Parts: sequence; C-alpha cells; structure tokens
Amino acid sequence: MEKIPGLEVYKFGGASVKDAAAILNLCRIVRDFGPQGPLVIVVSAMGKTTNALEEIYDLAFNGRDYSVQLAALAAYHQQAATELKAQSQQLDEDFYLGLSNAFQDLEHALGKVSPSDNYDEGYDQIVSYGETHSAYLVTSALADLFPKQVLYKRALVATDATWREGRVDWAETEQESKHALESLLTNWQGRILVTEGFVGTTYVDDYERTTTLGREGSDYTAAILAYCLRAESVTIWKDVAGLLNADPKIFPDTVRYPEISYRETIEMAYYGASVIHPKTLKPLADRNIPLRVKSFLDPAAAGTIIHDCQHPALAPAFIRKTDQCLLSFASKDFSFISEENMAVIFAALAQAKLKINVMQNSAISFSVCVDFSERRVHLLLDLLREQFLLHYNTGLMLFTIKNYTAASIAQLTQGKQLLLEQRTRGTFQFVCAA
Ligand code: ASP
Ligand code: MG
Repeated sequence: MEKIPGLEVYKFGGASVKDAAAILNLCRIVRDFGPQGPLVIVVSAMGKTTNALEEIYDLAFNGRDYSVQLAALAAYHQQAATELKAQSQQLDEDFYLGLSNAFQDLEHALGKVSPSDNYDEGYDQIVSYGETHSAYLVTSALADLFPKQVLYKRALVATDATWREGRVDWAETEQESKHALESLLTNWQGRILVTEGFVGTTYVDDYERTTTLGREGSDYTAAILAYCLRAESVTIWKDVAGLLNADPKIFPDTVRYPEISYRETIEMAYYGASVIHPKTLKPLADRNIPLRVKSFLDPAAAGTIIHDCQHPALAPAFIRKTDQCLLSFASKDFSFISEENMAVIFAALAQAKLKINVMQNSAISFSVCVDFSERRVHLLLDLLREQFLLHYNTGLMLFTIKNYTAASIAQLTQGKQLLLEQRTRGTFQFVCAA
C-alpha cells in the first residue's frame, strides 16, 4: 500500500468520551474540524473506567466480591448508551444488545480470573475492556452521523507478551493496520477507522491474548498507528488548551506553547509532564509527523503544534510527580559505592521493574527516586538486603523545572525541605516531602 494522502490520526482521551454529551461533542469535532479524507480514531476508556477496572480485577484476583463495582461500571456505560440512543435517528435495540454482550464478555473473563494466574497477564485481559466498550459507543455514535463511513477494528497494535507494557512488533503492526485501513477504504468504501488505544495483541502458543501498553498508553497507540500508516499528522484532543508549561490543576498562571520541538516535549514527558505519554514522540519524530494538542472544549482554538522546529528560549516548564519513594543504598562496611555495587543495584532495580526518576551518589551511598509501588520496592529490598544497608522514604514529591531560571527555582523551592536536589545545564530537580 502506498502512503494514503491526507490520512490523519485523532486520539480522544478518557475525559473526551466520559459521557454521552462528550461522545456527541467528539462526533461534532470530527464533522466540523475533521479531515475530508481518511481518519483513524483512537479512543481511551470512558472517564475513570480504567481505574474502576483495575479495582475490579484486583478484587477478582483476590477472590473477593466485585459485583457492586461491576454493576456500577455497566450502569455508567448503559447510561451513556441510553442518552446516545435518545439523540439518534438510527441506533436501535441492537445497539443496546451490543453493549450488553460486551459486558457479558467482561463478566465471563472475570469469572475465569484465578489467584494462581500471572497477575499482570490477567490484568491485561480485564482492564483492556474499558477501551473496547468506549470504542463500541464511539463507533456507534459516529456511524449514526456518518452512515457507511465508519469501521471498527480491534486492537491493531501487535506486541510481544510483556504484560502491562507490551513491546511493539512494528512490522506486524504495520501489516495489520495497513490491511485494516485498506479494507476500510476499498472494500468498505468507508473513511473513518475506530480502534482502541492502550490495547495490543500477542500470540502465546498460537492463542491470541490481549496486552496493554501501560497506563495512559492511548497516545502511544495513536503515534504507533500514525507511524505505521505514514499519516500526515496526529491530533490529541484534551481538556486543556494545548501543551502548557505546567499542569493548571497544580500550578497557577500556566502558559501555552504555541509551537515546540519534539526534543523538548520528549524531555518534558520523560520528567512526568502528564500531557503526553512519554513513548509517543519518538515514532512521530522518526517520520517527521507533526503532533497537535488541541482542546475538545474549544476545537477552533490553535492549541500546540509539536514538530521539528527551532524556537527561542522557552518559558520554564514545571513538572510534579507524586507518590515518590527515595531509596538509599549504603555499603555495609563503609566501603565506597563502586561500579560493581552499582551494577548489582541496577540489575535489582530492573528486576523489580522500578524505573529511576533521579539518582545521585555520594561516597558511601547511592540514592534513587522511583515511583512508589509497595510490591516492587519490597522485591527490591529482598534482592539487596544482604549486600547493602537500605533506607527509604515514601510519600514524597519530585519536582522538575526544565529551562529553569533563578526566579523559577526560588519560587518553587520556597518553604520546602529538600531531601535531594540536582541541577544540570537545562534542568533543576528536587525531592521533598508531600
Ligand atoms: N485508559 C487507559 C488509562 O487510563 C489508557 C489511556 O487512557 O491512555 O490508563
Ligand atoms: Mg486516560
């Protein structure tokens, strides 16, 4: 398949599909602001559904009752379906049936969850339903507005079997997604392809299994598909005006970057700016595909364009990560922390799947700040206890100021007791109590 001229990818996150009104707004955006040509739409689960499914899965895994939570989730989706149907000319009883079948599938899958299973593998099988259910509602609502133009294809991203963080099989994904798009455009003569974000597929002993790409992974799905299909651009529709220099829910007086380079954005995402999933930028930068961040509340507004560009000094960006854990390792015999010691520590961190957010070494100790996970931290402690003296503090915050100025540091550190601080040419970071 040759490159399809004008192909665009839109990603709609949880807030943009959180209820019937939001889904109808999505439809209007596609109608009034969408391309004339082919469009791939990647959707997240509705609102906070993924959190709800995590809780339900955890209950199921521990053999506890989840019926109340499951019923609430089903009612939430049913409510949206009822309101969509009320607004529509075409949607009929089959539309309801489709949703209740999809919930029955989830119930059935939950019934099979067992504490002897691999937790992460089971997680992917269950938590991925959020996207499947929202894709169903979005596809139905769009098909109502654009009859015969819309097709749904399940989980187009092929991955390996790394549960909860599937690694993309690019060649396979390219083939799958091209095939789906081709069939939409030629056999189907349609124009809009809807698929789940966050969800992937793999094969284990010839059986298809579901994987996920990690929390908030739908942005990454959009980028993967844009890369594989050589799209013209990706647009992420969010509840903010574009890429801001800080999260307006946390910091006052934010500014929007009208234009910003891939590199700057990748770094911000790495430090924890929650606006874009960190893996999203690389595939786009590799193929020079611009990424637009726009507000679904104000779709006519300019938003931000992230692409290959030069810009003058940017306003400092402020990033906060909560729920941090600061771990310190000291040698038991007061010997210096050597490269050999570090190799052991790094191997254990990798084994416990703890990602380092900041690290610092001194003569006889080495400290790392990681996202706190009780299970993972305890595994790490078990792995290293024999060789090192370990200390850790939890409930901390990690602040990063990118492109800092003296004034921005003074403003942010004021009144805080810093447990660790670090400054490089472009970035100032510190860890403090929450
Ligand atoms: N629904 C998933 C999550 O909440 C993926 C996403 O929204 O990007 O993590
Ligand atoms: Mg989300």
